[in-house]
Amino acid sequence: MDEKNNSRKVEKLLAVKGMNDILPPDSARWEALEERVRQLMRRFAYENIRTPIVEPTALFVRGLGEVTDIVEKEMYSFEDRLNGEALTLRPENTAGVVRAVIENNLLYNGGKRLYYMGPMFRHERPQRGRYRQFHQIGAEALGFSGGEVDAELILMAHALWQEIGLQDVALQINSLGQPEERNLHRSALIGHFEAHMDVLDEEAKRRLHLNPLRLLDSKNPAMQAVIEAAPRLIDFLGEASRAHLQTVCNVLDANGVAYSINPRLVRGMDYYNLTVFEFVTTKLGAQGTICAGGRYDYLMEQVGGKPAPAVGWAIGVERVLELLKEQTSASAMAPLHAYAIVTDSQDLPQVMRSLQALRAAGASVLMQASGAEGMPSMKAQFKRADASGALFALIFGADEMAQGSVTIKALRDASVAQQTLAVTELPQWAERLQSKA
Ligand code: ATP
Ligand code: MG
Repeated sequence: MDEKNNSRKVEKLLAVKGMNDILPPDSARWEALEERVRQLMRRFAYENIRTPIVEPTALFVRGLGEVTDIVEKEMYSFEDRLNGEALTLRPENTAGVVRAVIENNLLYNGGKRLYYMGPMFRHERPQRGRYRQFHQIGAEALGFSGGEVDAELILMAHALWQEIGLQDVALQINSLGQPEERNLHRSALIGHFEAHMDVLDEEAKRRLHLNPLRLLDSKNPAMQAVIEAAPRLIDFLGEASRAHLQTVCNVLDANGVAYSINPRLVRGMDYYNLTVFEFVTTKLGAQGTICAGGRYDYLMEQVGGKPAPAVGWAIGVERVLELLKEQTSASAMAPLHAYAIVTDSQDLPQVMRSLQALRAAGASVLMQASGAEGMPSMKAQFKRADASGALFALIFGADEMAQGSVTIKALRDASVAQQTLAVTELPQWAERLQSKA
């Protein structure tokens, strides 16, 4: 190594602002939620789909709509350095799923129910519950037009809240109707806001004629009163749209799921029609929406596929975990079964064979690793075994190694006597351990 490099202090590299490391022990809470979601999806017969994190920019521009927060100001877009292609880190995954469904002709013999989990990217101002890399769990049902499937998705999210013990989550529903109904409402909306130009901010003025529905989604406190007084889309709905909403409500009523109709509810993307919904909590301040979704019957066409109806939702994982933390003390992780204490590093290959057999029998085992000076003192090893939270210490000392045995000491329960077993008996020991748990 050259001397100059050695003496210079190397600048510390930090994570990108708004993008977080998820570290142990917190990561165990993530895994636990993900595992629950996998089981839930299996029970509802939704299949997993994994699409690329990078997509052509045009997919989001066409899919989400040009006059949306995401497309106007939140996308991480870049040019492929080698071929100049316009690419974007996915800000959401409905458009990606729809692209994949079209590209792979997944609807060739009927509908498809899909789910995904993964990181999304939006250039927003980082704050609690709002990050630049965040994670969504999403479910999409494609090829179904009936309101029952909208309701099925809502029941599925509701079931998740119940299973993880989330309280104080309120469900709001609205209908955005169909394009013709929206056009009628649009004219009324423009008229209304034009009569209140003085309270509109710059963004609202710019969007007024491009996409007036977006104004209803504004978070500007100064505009809330005039938004409150705006004509309601729900009053412009025809028979069929009202019937669709009624179907959703009937299923929710039959299942005892509480909801309120919120005629002001609109969603951030253009692709929605008919049913839209949000699960909201008051516990996270302005970042209270933990799940949002709705029907998007025109998106398939919009991105170049054969028309097909669809409906879906996305959950904000960080927000859900934040709520869980607030509500309950972190639920205990599955405990570590055993910590292997080894006196002579020469014995490690032999010891590791026993540990492999133990793991094959389903036990979790953490092994003391050797350092530059061989194995740490017994005292130090016992200290670490204790700190690891392991239920048992497995002691591989000189006597044990000579006899092909292991001494097992309970670390959490003083009433359990220490015992010495032949290492060949370890797998049975592990099985007994788990049947007791
Ligand atoms: P908001 O109004 O809070 O910006 P949104 O309408 O942009 O939300 P969606 O695009 O519908 O959100 O995404 C679905 C869910 O993903 C949100 O309800 C939220 O829980 C979560 N989410 C969205 N953006 C972020 C972010 N930047 N950081 C963390 N979670 C987010
Ligand atoms: Mg947003």
